[in-house]
Amino acid sequence: MPYRAPVADYKFIFEHIVGLNQVAATEKFAEASADVTDAILTEAGRMCEEVLAPLNRNGDLYPAKVENGVVRTSKGFDGGFRAIAEGGWVGISADPEYGGMGLPIAMTTALNDMMSASCMALGLNPLLTQGQIEALEHHASDEIKAMYLPKLISGEWTGTMNLTEPQAGSDVGALRSKAEPKGDGTYAVSGQKIFISWGDHDFGGNVCHLVLARLPDGAEGTRGISLFMVPKYIPNADGSLGEANSLRVVSLEHKMGIHGSPTAVMEFDGATGWLVGAEHKGMAAMFTMMNNARLAVGAQGIGISEGAYQHALAYALDRKQGPTPVGDKSGTIVDHADVRRMLLTMKADTFAARSIGLACAVAIDMGNATGDAEWKARAAFLTPIAKSFGTDTGIRVSEMGVQVHGGMGFIEETGAAQYSRDVRVTSIYEGTNGIQAMDLVARKMMDGGEAAYRFLDEIEADVENARALCPELGDAVWEACETLRETTEWLVAQDDLNNRFAGAVPYQAGFARVLGGYYHLKAALAANGKGARAKLARFYITRLLPEHASLLEQAMQGASGLYSMSLEELSA
Ligand SMILES: Cc1cc2nc3c(=O)[nH]c(=O)nc-3n(C[C@H](O)[C@H](O)[C@H](O)COP(=O)(O)OP(=O)(O)OC[C@H]3O[C@@H](n4cnc5c(N)ncnc54)[C@H](O)[C@@H]3O)c2cc1C
Repeated sequence: MPYRAPVADYKFIFEHIVGLNQVAATEKFAEASADVTDAILTEAGRMCEEVLAPLNRNGDLYPAKVENGVVRTSKGFDGGFRAIAEGGWVGISADPEYGGMGLPIAMTTALNDMMSASCMALGLNPLLTQGQIEALEHHASDEIKAMYLPKLISGEWTGTMNLTEPQAGSDVGALRSKAEPKGDGTYAVSGQKIFISWGDHDFGGNVCHLVLARLPDGAEGTRGISLFMVPKYIPNADGSLGEANSLRVVSLEHKMGIHGSPTAVMEFDGATGWLVGAEHKGMAAMFTMMNNARLAVGAQGIGISEGAYQHALAYALDRKQGPTPVGDKSGTIVDHADVRRMLLTMKADTFAARSIGLACAVAIDMGNATGDAEWKARAAFLTPIAKSFGTDTGIRVSEMGVQVHGGMGFIEETGAAQYSRDVRVTSIYEGTNGIQAMDLVARKMMDGGEAAYRFLDEIEADVENARALCPELGDAVWEACETLRETTEWLVAQDDLNNRFAGAVPYQAGFARVLGGYYHLKAALAANGKGARAKLARFYITRLLPEHASLLEQAMQGASGLYSMSLEELSA
């Protein structure tokens, strides 16, 4: 089943849901006119359809492997990566001064969605490189920028992020990797990192590792961590590849999915590194990369939802099974009510998740273009929601895709199972969705809930206008907003943070459900209450939005009930 890039959906969301025009109206993004963004989306979509999608199964069947210390990637991935690099797709949002296209993050988000739908394992490589580029743009010295950015942006070199160690997963502050100043401005970096995506490959060029490590005088915890650029090959002054650095891939993980992405255990043994950002301020610098990657990982979930939906629909239109309840009763399974329910759920949730992801991207772009504190707060508030809802949607939708296929969904040839296996990691890496939710209800509400209330005020003002035109749907979204406001007030009033944490995941999911209702309502209005967009909105608002009530009810239960059973009782 060939992948079709949903370019019309991006255009609709840009125009009617998230207002990309306001981004294009800024001086920074004046180039991003509708004509330019349309042409870019179409071109990127063609590359994903024609070059990347045919590689997806290869990655699954022929995983990356280590041979004599060298990583060999899946059949065809080298050519696929070259197509991404030569198209300029690694650097579409990168600084033009270093060779990037300087386009909004909204465009990169749509690109990552399409690359993930067509071949998530390979798309993870440029996705990480994009994040590294942004971190270097913001935090690196001019020398590092001049050496690394042009080559990362052109795809000649690739980038990784090295945080995780065996004892330091979610708790990054527990890391033990060390960096010793060598007295010549460089550092000797030592330690073991695990789970490093695209830690090595055979595409040629350099692999540029951004590594978190502690200087000898670094404090315990996250405050004492510094960030280093540690390349596989030490570049010569002219940018050519010099001697090999003291680092190696120890092994690759055997994984549930994204088999084509080499996930490496990395050993750094006094490897030469260059400080990025200030000493002991490594987490702040790494957060630039992590925030970039969080939105991008949300886009991975959305892309997989799209791919899983397209596959399931094609199967449902072809498979006959029993008399169908409509028409002449000789239809395919698409005419069974329960199959319709699944397909509509998949389509409606994909639209909601995509709208949320692109709304977050637009907030980031507006914050970057204007420096406005409210846009920056909006972006920060939406990032955990976009990451979590995008990935949770990918997991739910791809699982439903297996169900639509019946027994064939469990058989690998259909590809339905691969979507489900590949996407599973997205709610785990880049900060688990539980950690995202805790960030939402704690750090992102340190303002007393101001960013949340401001957002709700805007949504309610829009929904109020919509109620006159679309009363039934508008009223339902309005009521949901009010419940969300009450839940937010309850959370903000909790001084014991553990009460917030206990309800963080359902709150995050409930917030996303309501946002999805708002964006579907906007879609229905843009379509004058008619046609497919309005029908899909009605489906979402009447059948999926009601879930917000039970989620938000759970969010207000506090922590004590979670600890009421003793560990003995849990183990009995
Ligand atoms: C395929 C793959 C690729 C990866 N790529 C990279 C990469 O490129 N670079 C990199 O640095 N890392 C990478 N990772 C690591 C990934 O980011 C971590 O797995 C993730 O951050 C979770 O850490 P952990 O596995 O140690 O789980 P743990 O931190 O042990 O978490 C286990 C469970 O406990 C929960 N938990 C932990 N702490 C808390 C808390 N304080 N409050 C509430 N709940 C908590 C978690 O949510 C989770 O449910 C990758 C992982 C995988 C599987």
